[in-house]
Amino acid sequence: MIETIIVLLITGIIIMGILVSPSLTKWQRNRFKQRPFPPLWNAVINVNLPIYQCLTPSERKRLQGHIQVFLAEKQFIGCKGLQVTEEIKLVIAATACLLLLNERGKYFPRLRSILIYPSTYLVNEKAYSGNYVVEERRVARLGESWTSDQVVLAWSQVKRDTCNWQDGHNVVVHEFAHQLDQEDGFAEGVPILQRDSDYSIWAIVMTKEYQQLCNDIERGLRTVIDSYGATNPAEFFAVATETFFEKPHQLLKKHPAVYQQLQRYYQLDPIQWV
Ligand SMILES: [Zn+2]
Repeated sequence: MIETIIVLLITGIIIMGILVSPSLTKWQRNRFKQRPFPPLWNAVINVNLPIYQCLTPSERKRLQGHIQVFLAEKQFIGCKGLQVTEEIKLVIAATACLLLLNERGKYFPRLRSILIYPSTYLVNEKAYSGNYVVEERRVARLGESWTSDQVVLAWSQVKRDTCNWQDGHNVVVHEFAHQLDQEDGFAEGVPILQRDSDYSIWAIVMTKEYQQLCNDIERGLRTVIDSYGATNPAEFFAVATETFFEKPHQLLKKHPAVYQQLQRYYQLDPIQWV
């Protein structure tokens, strides 16, 4: 009898925990968002991220709230002797949170830590044939996003990309777009969409445009979406997101269907900023 009561009590506590946890997270995040945003932080973002000045006051306020949550929840780790400064944290947080500006996503739920190297870093890359490693080589990387819990970035590239908005390249936007794609545990170029009915339109548009990009690259044509997007559908989504934020006019003109899908997904229209 006593054992049954204990089992019931434990089950009740677990169920209560499951039910209360999301509300607790929401409450905690609202508290983070209400923290005062130091003027120095504002100045640092202004200097490093020119697009920040183009946001409306209400967008800026919303972004500041997201940055507070991001800084409170994610861990920043310097690698190869890099000292993680406030500037580094703010630039990465502000750029990543632009993707969440209009309540898109849940603060990259799988992500725990951001590893930052001073500049390009080297990794061992293995090529497989079935289960066998057929080639192993050292390759230079600027950033990567893991389905487990980490994003890796080269700070020199982050700095170059954020100051040079409008060239269609941004390693932070790229890697955090991968995080959104990987929210469901798979990197396949399909993030979690608002409605079930959105998936079929997304698949039709993105598959057609991905294949078009592959064909254009094969024929040696110049493209608005960088050729790296032709690597696979996951890279297509990440590179198209970079183009959407940095070259919205060109993307809308050349690939209106892609623009429309990304506008719907991110719930924003970057044309108003550039
Ligand atoms: Zn990528």
